[in-house]
Amino acid sequence: MSQKLNLNLSDSMYQNALNIIPGAVAGIRRPYNFVPGEYPIYFEHGKGGRVTDVDGNEYIDFLCAYGPIIIGYREEEIDNEVIEQMRNKGFCFSLTQPIQNRLAQKLIDLIPSAEMAAFVKTGSDATSIAIRVARAATDRVKIVRCGYHGWHDWCVEVKGGVPQKVWEDIHEFHYNDLDELEDIMKEHGDNIAGIIVTPVGHPLAEKVQEPKPGFLEGVRKIADKYGSILIFDEIRSGFRVDMGGAQKLYGVTPDLATFGKAMANGYPIAALVGKKEVMKVLADKVFLSSTFFPNSLEQIACLKTIEILERDNILATVRKKGEFFSNLVEEVVKKSGYDAEFSGGPLMPFITFNKDKDGLYKKLRPAFYTELIRRKVFLQPYHHGYICYRHTDEDLKYAANMIAESFEELKKYC
Ligand code: PMP
Repeated sequence: MSQKLNLNLSDSMYQNALNIIPGAVAGIRRPYNFVPGEYPIYFEHGKGGRVTDVDGNEYIDFLCAYGPIIIGYREEEIDNEVIEQMRNKGFCFSLTQPIQNRLAQKLIDLIPSAEMAAFVKTGSDATSIAIRVARAATDRVKIVRCGYHGWHDWCVEVKGGVPQKVWEDIHEFHYNDLDELEDIMKEHGDNIAGIIVTPVGHPLAEKVQEPKPGFLEGVRKIADKYGSILIFDEIRSGFRVDMGGAQKLYGVTPDLATFGKAMANGYPIAALVGKKEVMKVLADKVFLSSTFFPNSLEQIACLKTIEILERDNILATVRKKGEFFSNLVEEVVKKSGYDAEFSGGPLMPFITFNKDKDGLYKKLRPAFYTELIRRKVFLQPYHHGYICYRHTDEDLKYAANMIAESFEELKKYC
């Protein structure tokens, strides 16, 4: 019989924060995105593949900070380089430090579409400058999008505070649906500056989708046919599915690509990379500048992360761990007898409940994830998870067993 976790401190901190911070915590970290009352709201610390909340509960963490943690929390080798830079040189200046050139060259060496690179801080910065570059390079206005691209005006899902004119030139198509894309292009193709698409499909609360054979190639062809810039949003896939991104793995090269999340194992940095011919508008026609963009700590962290990923062949190991976990969980889900699905394996595992006409899935989902969090396995009910290098085989086996137990417990609910 599972027991509700002691979350007293999390709850009281949350109540306190509601009076001084709107919504207490930001967006996707709010309790309604988990199971309210069952998940912690504040973490105190993390190490490797585990995190500890403010009440002292320790979890095997499969959310990995929503993606940045590719190796593990508090990687000493990375943190030590950052601390050295902080102590010996400093990191926030009026001019740029030399490390930026090294980092740009490294991305160019690794990523097929990268002939040039520009550095920003967040994924939203990167996707937003990508569409500005596409518009400037083509002298066109409209954008076609597919996937989550961040919180900025042009793409934010919640439209409060955003004038319609900012998003009325943005058209959306569904992942893996080339016909829908072709229809939009037939109607607006002459004025489509860019097509931005996540190379892996991961709509919120829905199962993760791999590209169908020919999908990414088809998007490339359509972009070429209409003279539009093809942008891969690799904020999640970059430095996770392959050192050269999903574009390397699937063999389709976009004109521009955005990277973020895993590139510095948690330090805040993102990048726009792409073909010289397109990127060159950033040298004159397009403005990109911010006080903190050139800060070097995250550039140091990024180079060190990449060095470790390459040196220790980390991504291959993460993939192996993911395969081990996926095989176990796939079996568990199949045997559960529930209309549930495992997707996203091996790297972005997700357990979803298929929609049924009676809406049973709306009860099963929170019940299942309640049982799981009570067993100290931190997975998100509405968002796929991630595997990191520091997850041990024991962690993965334990989590798979707890997933099996949580399915068993569902009988109690329905
Ligand atoms: N693109 C994708 C594919 C993402 O997953 C995200 C973040 N979840 C973003 C863009 C925005 O990145 P950020 O949250 O760092 O602004």
